[in-house]
Amino acid sequence: MLRSPRIASLVSPNNAAILRARALRQLPSARERAIQYASQVSRGPHTLRKRPQVAGALRNSNWRHLSHTPILLSPGKQVLKIRSRTLNFVYRAAAWLGISVTVASAGIISFFLYDASTYREDLSHRDIQISDLALNPKLGGPKNLPIAEVLMDDEDDADMERQQNKPRLVILGGGWGSVALIKELRVEDYHITLISPTNYFLFTPMLPSATVGTLELRSLAEPIRRIVSDIKGHFIKARAEGVEFSEKLVEVSQVGADGKRTHFYLPYDKLVIGVGSTTNPYGVKGLDNCNFLKDLDDARKIKHKILNNLEAASLPTTSEEERKRLLSFVVCGGGPTGVEFAAELFDLLNEDLTQYFPRLIRNEVSVHLIQSRGHILNTYDEAVSKYAEDRFSRDQVQVLTNSRVKEVRPDKILFTQQDENGETITKELPMGFCLWSTGVSQTDFSKNVAQTLGDNQKNKRALETDSHLRLIGAPLGDVYAIGDCSTVQNNVAENLVSFLNNLAYEKGKDPKTMHIEFDEWIKAWTPHSAPIPTSLGTSEAPR
Ligand SMILES: Cc1cc2nc3c(=O)[nH]c(=O)nc-3n(C[C@H](O)[C@H](O)[C@H](O)COP(=O)(O)OP(=O)(O)OC[C@H]3O[C@@H](n4cnc5c(N)ncnc54)[C@H](O)[C@@H]3O)c2cc1C
Repeated sequence: MLRSPRIASLVSPNNAAILRARALRQLPSARERAIQYASQVSRGPHTLRKRPQVAGALRNSNWRHLSHTPILLSPGKQVLKIRSRTLNFVYRAAAWLGISVTVASAGIISFFLYDASTYREDLSHRDIQISDLALNPKLGGPKNLPIAEVLMDDEDDADMERQQNKPRLVILGGGWGSVALIKELRVEDYHITLISPTNYFLFTPMLPSATVGTLELRSLAEPIRRIVSDIKGHFIKARAEGVEFSEKLVEVSQVGADGKRTHFYLPYDKLVIGVGSTTNPYGVKGLDNCNFLKDLDDARKIKHKILNNLEAASLPTTSEEERKRLLSFVVCGGGPTGVEFAAELFDLLNEDLTQYFPRLIRNEVSVHLIQSRGHILNTYDEAVSKYAEDRFSRDQVQVLTNSRVKEVRPDKILFTQQDENGETITKELPMGFCLWSTGVSQTDFSKNVAQTLGDNQKNKRALETDSHLRLIGAPLGDVYAIGDCSTVQNNVAENLVSFLNNLAYEKGKDPKTMHIEFDEWIKAWTPHSAPIPTSLGTSEAPR
């Protein structure tokens, strides 16, 4: 109180002493009054806190002194002992603990009550309805194989049951073409079964990045079962072997639990072939010494091979010649996949790995790209091709154009080039790693289908379709081919002949002797001239 400079200047030292004495005289009575009141209305400091007048009175008095001193209202009788700070803390902690335990218990009890009131027993686990035909398919077809007319999950839920009697759409392949079709189709109109030997959809554009570790391999794959179950479809992990067009059966095979390959038929009303393509060997010898880049497994193998070569090259026992060979990376094929991979590989070797491997390795790494044509990316715009060539030349990626690989040996590549006199000379390139990405050709299944359709399928690279993507030569127009395995035939004359062949088949006549009137011609042609979905995303969904 006397610390205020204004008051201090007004009072003399004597006055100050008098004031202090008065204040001290008044203090016990104020304290006693406060304690008396407190003893009537409360039992501890917590309660006092809620009553401001009491708290204020105690604050004005010497609270610290009070908390340690037993207070006597009448001589010899202790009425209130205010707790020490430690006790106070323990008291509060116990109170909070009690509250927390009560709230948590209430929560747990509520949860169990809710759970008990909402629980529904799923009887489907106990009593699964399944047709006998799904487990014991009857035999039939030209090869007398089991025919999977009913599938195991046909009656799994009400939606599946509803689709059971819809037209059977069988899709072969789980790649870009098939998944795009599923996404755009009116799925409720069909009983859909997808067949593929791989049970994931692969995001191929990022595959080259995954080989060098820029991306995790698993981030490129989406389980096909998830995609198919979203549309209440069915998935069978198997390989299509052939089609019995006359009986509308697809022959599929899969390796059973005993390791043996078993074959069976799957009936269809409509069949879509989207089996993609395979690497084109171009009749070159020794491709088993190469790596390929088509799926996740290929990417994994490439990654291991690159790292193994670098480790082997870093050994003190590796000769200089062997080190150079191990560090010679060759890409055969100057198309988009080859070029993209060469660029990713260059980045990996020059930017990422050099910090972990001896500097000598960096100096001896070489990347080569062999291209049979005059330029890389020759199917793209000239500017794109030139940009890629300039970039590779700056980065010291050797591009060998007009070069044809003759043979791939375990330690070198033999290729031919034309010299300035136009003569073919054979050259050798030592290699420790070779990627073969020279283009695509038909899968065995596509070849089989083409063979079954005989003269109707003349293209050796892909299955030919009409402009509605219907497989040419397949009777009844209920088989389609999409994606890499197919090509739209643009030969008008051949289209016309194929149309007349189909017409004759429908009428049960011999196409060579069939006569057709103009009116008949118009009538037969009209359904084929309906607008077609040229772009799935922008047109009506196909039926
Ligand atoms: C490394 C790489 C990068 C690429 N980058 C690009 C790009 O950036 N842009 C681009 O437009 N294209 C790119 N492509 C090409 C693109 O991936 C293909 O054009 C596309 O995958 C073709 O789709 P698809 O459905 O016809 O065949 P795919 O996607 O190859 O799918 C074929 C499916 O059929 C299945 N299958 C195979 N045989 C059978 C059988 N007998 N029975 C049943 N199923 C079978 C396969 O398992 C697979 O699921 C790239 C390709 C590769 C390899």
